[in-house]
Amino acid sequence: MNAQAGTTLNALSFDVEDWYHAELIRHNLEGEPRPQVEEATHPILALLDRYSVRATFFVVGEVAAMHPNLIGEIGKAGHEIACHGMSHRPLWEMEPNDFRQELEAFAEVMEEIVDMKDIVGYRAPTFSLDNERRWAIEVLKEHGYRYDSSIFPLRTYLYGVNGCPASPYHPSEADITVDAGAGDLVEFPLSALRIGSLALPVCGGFYLRAIPYPFLRWALRRINRQGQPFVLYMHPWETFRDTLRLRSLSPLSRFVTYYNINSTLSKLERLLSTFRFAPLRDVLEV
Ligand SMILES: [Zn+2]
Repeated sequence: MNAQAGTTLNALSFDVEDWYHAELIRHNLEGEPRPQVEEATHPILALLDRYSVRATFFVVGEVAAMHPNLIGEIGKAGHEIACHGMSHRPLWEMEPNDFRQELEAFAEVMEEIVDMKDIVGYRAPTFSLDNERRWAIEVLKEHGYRYDSSIFPLRTYLYGVNGCPASPYHPSEADITVDAGAGDLVEFPLSALRIGSLALPVCGGFYLRAIPYPFLRWALRRINRQGQPFVLYMHPWETFRDTLRLRSLSPLSRFVTYYNINSTLSKLERLLSTFRFAPLRDVLEV
């Protein structure tokens, strides 16, 4: 542990999907995509090992079925394995029963192919949990999940929810942005810098890539100074220099998907030497 590390225990997470699962990519694919998830994930594992940091890896079931050794390697290194859906279809493309089937297929893959049980965490593909899809919380509870980390704290053109609490809470059945005070499932919303009613996501993905490091560090320290842990997310494909770039994307989609990919791993390393991290399960104590 680096001597500069703060005292708050924050959550670090990786959504283990392949480059072609990304929302802006999957609708524009031509032909059979070449998997890259193993080569993209190995440098992350090596870096975490170097800093003795454990994280949560939200795994897509289809990726686990195709790359069981990779998932086994992540588990053996002491990281938490959690669920990122079976197919990476967002919740807005599903009815409750489709979601049940996804969770059951995921559990089957994890048990039978990678021999892993006791998975308690979930993150919706493309942060697709919002009030219209709040039935997903009930389905997660039915299947024994104890936490969710799917709520993106700002409505963007693709996803997100305005007005959710800043720190972990128990979402109410009637409105997922309201803290019910107690319950069987904890929500850890993705982190934002909050100034008055403004919420600037500083939690990962495009935002982490685009925000200059000194500002990112200041924003994250500010969250910790307010007495709250933050949760960060990254995708292996957005930390990997050789991620295949899809040329047919619109200029905006290309910018959002690929901007500053080459900087992510070094930013992660600076974060690891500045803040304390653990898997979500440990931070939430579930
Ligand atoms: Zn994803």
